[in-house]
This record gives sequence, C-alpha cells and structure tokens, in this order.
Amino acid sequence: MTRSLLYFVKLAVLVVVAFWLAERPGALTLTWQGYRIETSVGVLLLAVYLAVLIGASFYYIWRQLRRAPFMATDSIQMGRKRRGYKALTQGMVAVAAGDADEARRMAKKAEVLLDEPPLTMLLQAQAAQLGGDEAAAKRYFEAMLARDETRFMGLRGLLMQALRDGDQALALDYLEQARQIRPDAHWVINGLLELQLQRGDLEGAQDSVTRARKARALPPAAASRRRAVLLVAQAQAARAASDNQRALKHLREAAKLTEDLLPGTLLEAEILLAEGKDRAAAKLAERAWYKTPHPRLAELYLRALGEGKGVAGLKAIVRLTETAPEHRESLLARARAALDARLWGEARRYLAAAQEIGPGEAICRLMAKLEDSEHGDVTAARNWLDKATQAPAEPAWICGTCGTSAPEWSATCAACKSFDAIAWRRPPRVPAPGPTEPGPTKPGPPAAPAEMPGATIEALPARNRRIEHG
Ligand SMILES: [Zn+2]
Repeated sequence: MTRSLLYFVKLAVLVVVAFWLAERPGALTLTWQGYRIETSVGVLLLAVYLAVLIGASFYYIWRQLRRAPFMATDSIQMGRKRRGYKALTQGMVAVAAGDADEARRMAKKAEVLLDEPPLTMLLQAQAAQLGGDEAAAKRYFEAMLARDETRFMGLRGLLMQALRDGDQALALDYLEQARQIRPDAHWVINGLLELQLQRGDLEGAQDSVTRARKARALPPAAASRRRAVLLVAQAQAARAASDNQRALKHLREAAKLTEDLLPGTLLEAEILLAEGKDRAAAKLAERAWYKTPHPRLAELYLRALGEGKGVAGLKAIVRLTETAPEHRESLLARARAALDARLWGEARRYLAAAQEIGPGEAICRLMAKLEDSEHGDVTAARNWLDKATQAPAEPAWICGTCGTSAPEWSATCAACKSFDAIAWRRPPRVPAPGPTEPGPTKPGPPAAPAEMPGATIEALPARNRRIEHG
C-alpha cells in the first residue's frame, strides 16, 4: 500500500517536471535513418521516461510469472508444516488421554509431514509404549541416542525400560551416560540415588544425596533425613566390621541431622555398652526416651546401670520414664520392672493404666504372667493368653511399603528394596483364618499397614503410641 502510494507520488513528480521542462523554450532536432524529428526537450524526456516505464512493467510481469511455481511450492510446504504440527499436537493429546491407536496414527502422520526427528521420534516412542510395543519403543529410543539433541530424552526412555525390566546394571549405565550430558538433571540424580540405595551402595548414595541437595533435586528436609538414615546404615556396617569408633562417628553425625532416629539411638547405646561407656549409654537412653521410647532402650538402660530384677530395677525404670510417665510404653516398662520386682499391686496398676490407653497383645501376656505369679491362677493366666491371640498386635519393625516385618531395622527393606520404609509400627492386620489361629498377630504382606497407614510410631501422638514386644 505504502509502496504503491510512493510509486504514484514519484510518477506525479516526474510528470510535473516533464511538463515544466516541455514549457521551457528551446527545441531539439533528431535525424535518424532518413527520419527527422523536431521536438522540445521536455517532450523527449517524457517519451524516454514512458519507454523506461513500459520496459520495467514488462520485466516485472515476466519475473512474477517465473517465480509463480516456487511460490506455489512454498505455500504447499507451509501447509504441510501446519498439518504436521497439528498431527504432533493431536498425537501428544492422544498420549495424554491414553489413546494408543490415535497416538500411533498421528505420530506416523507427523513423521511424514514434518522434518523434525527430535519431536516425532519421542511421540512415536510414546505411542509405541502406550500400545504395549516396548520393542518398537526401544528402537525409537535407541535411534534418539544417535542425535545430540535427542540423546538425553532417549536415555531417559531406555532407563525407564531397564528399570521396568529390573535390569539395574543397564539402568545404572544409562544414568551414568545421562549424567555426562546433564549432571544436574533431577531425574538423573534421583534415579542414581534410588539405584544406589537399592543396591546398598551407601557411600555412592551419600554422594548422590549431597549432589541432590546442591542441585535442589531433594527438599532440604528430605535430603537431611536420607543422609541421617544412610549414616545409621553406615554405622551398622562399621559395627559389623568391629569398627566401633567409626560407627559412633557416623551415629553422632546422624543424631545432629535427626534427633529422633530410633535405630540410631539403639545402635549407639549398644556400642557404648560394648565399649564400657555405661554412663554415656544411660544418659543417651534417658535423653532419647521422651521421643523414642522402646522396650530395647529400657533393657539397655538397665544394663548400663548394672541393675537387674528388683526394686532398684523398678526405680531405675521409673527414672528413665519420668519424662513421659503417661506414655503407654513407659507404663509397660514400669509394669515389667514391677513384675520382676514381684511388686504385684504396682504391676497391676501400671497394666490397667496402659490398657486404658490402648489394649494390645503385650498387656495380655503380662497380665497372664501376673495372674500366674501372684496367685498361681493357671485358669486366669490361660484366659489372658487366649485374649493375647485376639488382641491388637504390638508394633514391630515393619516395612511401610510392602508390610513385611523384619527381625531388625535396616535402611533398605530386604523384601521390596524400599529405602527408609522400615519403622517401629503396628503390623498390618489380616483376618484370622480360623478360631484356633492367632491371626491378628501375624503381619501379612503385601497389604499396607492397616492401623497406621504410612505413619511411623515416632510420628504418632503420645497417647496413640503402643510400643511393645510380644
Ligand atoms: Zn518392603
């Protein structure tokens, strides 16, 4: 528009100039091939100008005609691209919607229409996976490895496949390759960490936790927790190798990160006792009782004080538990010590108080012992033992992921390889198979813990904590 306007302005100026020149005095005579032309300078200039204009117009039209086929091709290609991207978008939507056939169709269409392998390959791989064709997906992912811009994506796809197939060695290999490309990618760091945890590579896992924290791939609290749990596992390994000093160093570091890590406290108390540091062990138990009361802690405390079964033992347990006297575990520890001291009235009082907080197998067994010891009442004792089989099971080291119970705590569940999933918690309840079977006390994988889904004993309010060995 502006261009044609400018053109007319120029033309107008030229015409005005030509007429102005034509009106100037003076004449021009041209003799050529027997012709004689007499005219003014202005008219001649106008004639020359018109000749040039006509020539230029013919040239312009000729050029447009010559370019026409190319313009048509351009417009066809633009159309292809548009349709290609539309197919790509529809394919992605189909993947998100779980429509495998549509995703495959659109992936094929996008591949034909677009020259964008990074985009179409990923869609094709996803479509193949959605359709359950893992072999085809693998071929696409492997093809993606050949190009710089798609290698990282391809590695991720192959990693997922290796993890699904349970091929940890291959998964580690892919993760290492991905780390070479982008060391700070969250899925790379977390994937490596997960594998290291499952394989029990404690040192490697500590490295990965540090990297994850720096790259913000893990929230600070989660990173600290992982680090602490790994330190306790490292302490266990050091203890197994009879390196108590190293174990203690790890445990103290862990305690700085999380102060209520029960397995760490129990291990530290045991090592202190083994090292002859009884006073330190006793102090540790007293400090830890409020947050992590546990029957084993009470046992270790008595050993640290050199107290056995008697009134002195009960006094020691009362002292240990005085930070949480109303806690069910405190009451059970006192009841046990009172029974050992043959103080029947005290034992009965503590058991009744514990029962009020929450019934459980341990209370029934201690009541049976009390009836038998105090009165020699075998029938009452047997009744309590019967009740014990029906009573709610007491907490144990239970994996929160698969529900398996373990004799000892470990950082990684032996059954399902979940990290930091084992905690002191109630086993999942399974329906009793028959009247003679003590069903409720047996933990049954693979159900999740029924009574406290996902919660650890440490995380529960004091009144709900029921910690006791059977
Ligand atoms: Zn498990």
